Amino acid sequence: MPKLFGTFGVRGVSNLELTPKLAFELGAALATHLRNRGVVAVGHDNRTSSEMLEHAVVAGLTAGGCDVVKLGMVPTPVLSFAIKHLGCDAGVMITASHNPPEYNGIKFWGSDGAGFERSRELEIEEIISAKAWRRVAWHRIGGCRSADALMPYLRAILATIPKVERRLKVVVDCANAAGSVATPALLSKLGCEVISLNCQLDGRFPGRPAEPSPENLKELAKAVVACGADLGIAHDGDADRTIAVNERGEVLTGDRVFALVALQHLRERKGPKIVTTVATSSVIDDVAARLDGEVVRTKVGEPAIVEYFRRHGGDIGGEENGGVMFFDWTPCRDGILTAAKLVEMLASSGMKMSELDETLPQYHQRKLKVGCPDRLKVRVLKALEKRFSGYELDRTDGLRVDFEDGWLLLRPSGTEPIFRCFAEARVARRAEELARLGMRELRACIRKLS
Ligand code: MG
Repeated sequence: MPKLFGTFGVRGVSNLELTPKLAFELGAALATHLRNRGVVAVGHDNRTSSEMLEHAVVAGLTAGGCDVVKLGMVPTPVLSFAIKHLGCDAGVMITASHNPPEYNGIKFWGSDGAGFERSRELEIEEIISAKAWRRVAWHRIGGCRSADALMPYLRAILATIPKVERRLKVVVDCANAAGSVATPALLSKLGCEVISLNCQLDGRFPGRPAEPSPENLKELAKAVVACGADLGIAHDGDADRTIAVNERGEVLTGDRVFALVALQHLRERKGPKIVTTVATSSVIDDVAARLDGEVVRTKVGEPAIVEYFRRHGGDIGGEENGGVMFFDWTPCRDGILTAAKLVEMLASSGMKMSELDETLPQYHQRKLKVGCPDRLKVRVLKALEKRFSGYELDRTDGLRVDFEDGWLLLRPSGTEPIFRCFAEARVARRAEELARLGMRELRACIRKLS
């Protein structure tokens, strides 16, 4: 049987790979995993298939004896908040995040509001592959009720971030997706003048693709400049990530959003611990130094950051794609709270967004890739280690080579037959040079081993 769970739960094309039958089985398997009792919160995004899959998951959970709290259409961070707020035993989110509209996904959450760890996903997978889910007797079938999670969530954020004094104009682009019900309202309540772009819900995502990459944010950048706005905010499909645009219409990378938000969120904490991955810009080290804190680097991906937090704790977590986790809030990436923190920071600084960004050192990055058959990946990595043996090496995920004036990350993709090559340096020419060096060594190793 193929592996069901990827990095972000089960994903596939709706009604083709991710069918109502599979959604039912996942619900029933989760109930069995929970020993056929307990309360499970279920939320979904606004894709055309999400309600259909919700019905199937809920049928599986209740058939397996769990009670269900239906949260309806909510962004992912609202589900995470609700699990803790309502004291649920687990949660299910139906979303395919940044993937195209024909996809959907099902992901499980623990009672702590974080995604299931790998071992629990494997247990669910085994139950499904052995068709070992249990349906309970008629008198033990679970009940079902609806609850509003959005208002308590927004109220909780408003209780921690006071209304801002400065009247900021903010353009918010939610890709016609789940964030539309949260971020425009929240920023208005914080005292901003909000101009919404792609904030009418439409599960076909007609405004722009759900991935907030710079090429997908051209309309937002134009709107920010045309409206004379102070800031642009963009979410991915389930609003667990945020990318910002400054008043000049320039897109800030996710690294820099993370760095700025960390600076704001941790400003009063003593020696904070920042958890991030080996692929995140060194700008986060500058932030940590300013706060007298420490940076811990994990493998790439949200699950690795959550795993570190579960074992060792931490204050904030983040990735280069604009996903930030506030560990004293929930152990889940929260793009909505990230947007609120950016607004709070911009308002209290009295600066323009570009000026605020310039308070952090600038870095130049190059991100490249090269084809590499899966069967060669381990040997290529070993060969690369030999070639770079004279340097300071980090083997957390792939191979990171640190130079005096930059770094290079050579990492095999977990999902595609490619090797990624990231380079970063303070000087653009040096980043280019390091990327070329990485690609040259990668190609040589692949050629030699083919
Ligand atoms: Mg997402």
